[in-house]
Amino acid sequence: MATSQRSSSTGIKVVIVGAGFAGLTAAIECHRKGHEVLVLESFPELKILGDIISFAPNSGRIFQRWEGVDAKLDPIIHKSDGLRIKTWKGEDLTKQTWGEEGKKYGKAYNGHRGEIHEIVYYHALEIGIDIRLGHKVDDYFETESEAGVIANGERFTCDAVLAADGVRSKGRTIVLGYEDKPKSSGYAIYRTWFDSAALADDPDTAWMVTNGDRHCCWIGPDIHFIAASVKNGKDFSWVCTHKDEADVEEGWQETGPLSDAMKVLEGWDPVVQKILKATPDPLIDWKLVYRDPLPTWISPKRRIALIGDAAHPFLPTSIQGASQAMEDGATMAVCLSKSGKAHVQEGVAAFEALRYERVRAAQKTGEDTRNMWHKADFDDVKKNPDSMKLKREDWLLNFDAEEYAEKNYAATVALLKDPVAVRQLNVPSRTEVLASTEVAASA
Ligand SMILES: Cc1cc2nc3c(=O)[nH]c(=O)nc-3n(C[C@H](O)[C@H](O)[C@H](O)COP(=O)(O)OP(=O)(O)OC[C@H]3O[C@@H](n4cnc5c(N)ncnc54)[C@H](O)[C@@H]3O)c2cc1C
Repeated sequence: MATSQRSSSTGIKVVIVGAGFAGLTAAIECHRKGHEVLVLESFPELKILGDIISFAPNSGRIFQRWEGVDAKLDPIIHKSDGLRIKTWKGEDLTKQTWGEEGKKYGKAYNGHRGEIHEIVYYHALEIGIDIRLGHKVDDYFETESEAGVIANGERFTCDAVLAADGVRSKGRTIVLGYEDKPKSSGYAIYRTWFDSAALADDPDTAWMVTNGDRHCCWIGPDIHFIAASVKNGKDFSWVCTHKDEADVEEGWQETGPLSDAMKVLEGWDPVVQKILKATPDPLIDWKLVYRDPLPTWISPKRRIALIGDAAHPFLPTSIQGASQAMEDGATMAVCLSKSGKAHVQEGVAAFEALRYERVRAAQKTGEDTRNMWHKADFDDVKKNPDSMKLKREDWLLNFDAEEYAEKNYAATVALLKDPVAVRQLNVPSRTEVLASTEVAASA
């Protein structure tokens, strides 16, 4: 249910660096909670960038709280009844249906990253959030009583800074003094998004793009290829995760020739070959890198926090990177309203404590899914095709970040202050608090 109504002013000033999904969610949620928000984004103008992105029900419920946003997102999101899973030769293995999941957990939003981002961006502007484009943050500072950033030579002071500056976060290096070197994961992804007209004309591919949306995954030896149509079949997107030892460059705008993907997918299902033929050249070629988990996401004086990809990048097979970025924003907004202006540092520390273990567990699902698909023994798989279904678990999807933070803030702060005493009082440990499904069940 949309509840965009704003709480009374807390007097807390928050500067947010970056207007991706982490930054915009933090901004909208902080605004809802009555904090004063300023967003600084380095892009000089809004551009519709990217291709397919997924928001699972755990973040879908955040969109639904924002007046009018679900109605704008609904016409542009993928709507199929399920994910067909096939071998690379095209044999049907199983179908994972979404109907029951939707009833159990709520709505997921999968669509074009740039189009969804545009809707959220304009929603933030409509509710009165101050977003300044063309403001690249070059430096951060903090004292016991305030924090801030420097952008375009101007100094912006506030109570708390949220560095939502993405996977190549400068905030991470400046704030934590931590050079976070990416390591090759040995995999890369080809990605693309295009008009489906050519696929509709071919009888072998028409089923993917006519009479509604379709979602299909082909699994082969150490490779998977997932295709989806969107907007009643009008748009089409595919991604292919494959082995790649070439280098560790990463970026959403790095391109690679279609012929490379054709080589990787040689001998695959003729439907896949036809999809490749209809695909415009070049593709986005995104190297998947590993980053070790950061030891902390918050600054020494606890007035600056990393959120979203800046704090915790995700493998795409987790299907959770954007959702966890949104959960960060919703959690931080609650923590600051609970802490109040006089105890912002307590709120920032509680944010990290509330989020850290859940995020680690969600990150881990990305590796598990990739290994499940890429290392599959097809003799075993054919005996138990359902083993290839995505694991859709309660603890991850049946979760409401706002409610969870509301309910667990006080226990978390007590734990941070005096873990021994809290233990004696029989208050659950941080791990137990985070693993609790009490909130999830009531969501
Ligand atoms: C251009 C682009 C295209 C993408 N396409 C896809 C896609 O197709 N599919 C997918 O699943 N994910 C995509 N992503 C990543 C996805 O949006 C994130 O993984 C996820 O949503 C978490 O978002 P985030 O806000 O933490 O990071 P991001 O979405 O990366 O946002 C970070 C923001 O911070 C800004 N920024 C960086 N440094 C500074 C600075 N010094 N000062 C001010 N602002 C700064 C960046 O310009 C960016 O807008 C894309 C990201 C970008 C930036």
